[in-house]
Amino acid sequence: FDTIEECFDELSKYIYAIETGLSSDPAMNWRLSMLDKVAIVSNSDSHSLTRIGREANVFDTELSYYKIIEAIKSKDPKKFLYTVEFFPEEGKYHYDGHRLCRVSFNPQESKKTNFLCPKCKRQLTIGVLARVDQLADRTSGFELIGAVPYKNIIPLDQIIAESLGLGNTGNTGWPKKVVFEYEKLIKHSGNEFQVLLEQSKEELKKATSPQIAEGIIKVREKRVHIEPGYDGEYGKIKIFTADERESASNQAVLL
Ligand SMILES: [Zn+2]
Repeated sequence: FDTIEECFDELSKYIYAIETGLSSDPAMNWRLSMLDKVAIVSNSDSHSLTRIGREANVFDTELSYYKIIEAIKSKDPKKFLYTVEFFPEEGKYHYDGHRLCRVSFNPQESKKTNFLCPKCKRQLTIGVLARVDQLADRTSGFELIGAVPYKNIIPLDQIIAESLGLGNTGNTGWPKKVVFEYEKLIKHSGNEFQVLLEQSKEELKKATSPQIAEGIIKVREKRVHIEPGYDGEYGKIKIFTADERESASNQAVLL
């Protein structure tokens, strides 16, 4: 389906909101003027406990079904404060590509190869960005005035691991050092949203190392590099270059 009407026909008037999914965010959806009439919500999947809250809706309203529905229908930024979003590039289907051949393309590049993998000549799996490009009537970067705003986050355990230069150890999960730093921060701050969205760098430094505090602030200010996900492969986050990590830990030594 290309439009809400095509999908829901005479019931379209009862669709008040759409959900962005991990591989897209509000800014991508603002490019489609046909979506101006619906609210953009962002929900977590709950298939694993640690991933609850990767995306969320933040309301300032009475905790009841009717008040929450009212906030969604009205899209009033005083009641529907903001959404919390994954960086869409981190999602598994942001770019186009073919995973087996390790080919990843932005929509312009895949147009040039006629949507075929240059290595094995099979069809590329088309990502969300290309789909938005196809349906959009506004240019990339368009900002919808009066829309409910959003904040991008990266889960705290990932930020800690990246800041320390430690990777995920496969099935056994994070290295002990990552878990230790995670629990220390949560104990100090109360919950992950406080750490990711609210606390100042000075406050964070009371509970963790300067390089982890710097990592959290960098994500908040969107100063990160993400290699986009494609064809079922999650995007890869880079918060620090090797030089930056070195200088952040030198700073720690000086302190
Ligand atoms: Zn291929």
